Amino acid sequence: MLDLNYWEPGNLLEAVSLLSNLGEKARPLAGGTDLLVKMKKGPINWSGIVNLKGLPELKGINFEGQTMTIGALTPISALMANPWVGVHFPVLVEAARSLGTPQIRNLATVGGNLCNASPAADVALVLLIYEARLLIMGPKGPRKVPVQEFYAGPGQTVLEPGEILTAVEMDVPPLNSKGVFVKHGKRKSHEIALVNVAVLITPQPGTKQIARARIAVGAVASTQLRLQEAEESLSDTVVTVDALERAAELAEAAVNPIDDVRSTAGYRKQMVKVLTKRALQEAWGGEL
Ligand SMILES: Cc1cc2nc3c(=O)[nH]c(=O)nc-3n(C[C@H](O)[C@H](O)[C@H](O)COP(=O)(O)OP(=O)(O)OC[C@H]3O[C@@H](n4cnc5c(N)ncnc54)[C@H](O)[C@@H]3O)c2cc1C
Repeated sequence: MLDLNYWEPGNLLEAVSLLSNLGEKARPLAGGTDLLVKMKKGPINWSGIVNLKGLPELKGINFEGQTMTIGALTPISALMANPWVGVHFPVLVEAARSLGTPQIRNLATVGGNLCNASPAADVALVLLIYEARLLIMGPKGPRKVPVQEFYAGPGQTVLEPGEILTAVEMDVPPLNSKGVFVKHGKRKSHEIALVNVAVLITPQPGTKQIARARIAVGAVASTQLRLQEAEESLSDTVVTVDALERAAELAEAAVNPIDDVRSTAGYRKQMVKVLTKRALQEAWGGEL
């Protein structure tokens, strides 16, 4: 039986103040689908929980102009239920659909998926291709961090003691962009990714060229990665089978997976190449 202290702050500033004072002794709780599993598995080095669920300012999805803001406490299932998310950020909906089960998706939050910093996280991976900005509140006030600068290692983020992720914002990509999310696991559903890949390409109108490509991969390095070299190999390039193959090879070369109980490093590396090419081909859609 764990001997834990428990707090339910009534507003964001109270939550920040509590977490700042408690430091390493406490953790914020959102949906609990990662935190409670960790606590059950143990050992843990904290003895307090600050439950964020009572903070309405951290919930909801809003559009203002070309920018969407998702509160950190928004459940994964809300991404699937909001029709505008599906219209402007369909890859996010694909990733949400692939996460856990309906029960998990109702509890699990967008902020928890990011702050848990698992290299295999599904929704967090897609935020990389949408170039999301993370809104953080802490004892020194608010700050914004691009999602690609948020991770410090497996299970680690750049959040400082007392800081809370409050929201995620991202701009609607060009209308002709097309994205794809691919998750590879041992089972079809209810599975943590062995490898996951998200791509977003923006074709050059009226040509067979890609103006811009964004590629992100997960579960193949200590943090999720944007693959800059592979992306650059495609920009302003005529799309051919060879061009996609070259980008997929660069993706494979950029990752550094490990062997673990779920897969070997070699297999994961190979799958990065296969899945990147498949995702790019599907996103391009047209003839090659
Ligand atoms: C059965 C099962 C299946 C799963 N399947 C998948 C899957 O397919 N894909 C996938 O990506 N994940 C999966 N997960 C993992 C988990 O559901 C997700 O990572 C989820 O999004 C975590 O959100 P949460 O709200 O439950 O986070 P919590 O468990 O509440 O928190 C996770 C971590 O983030 C911190 N934290 C949470 N919110 C904040 C905040 N706003 N500010 C600062 N720190 C914060 C917590 O202190 C904790 O360290 C699964 C989990 C289970 C139990």
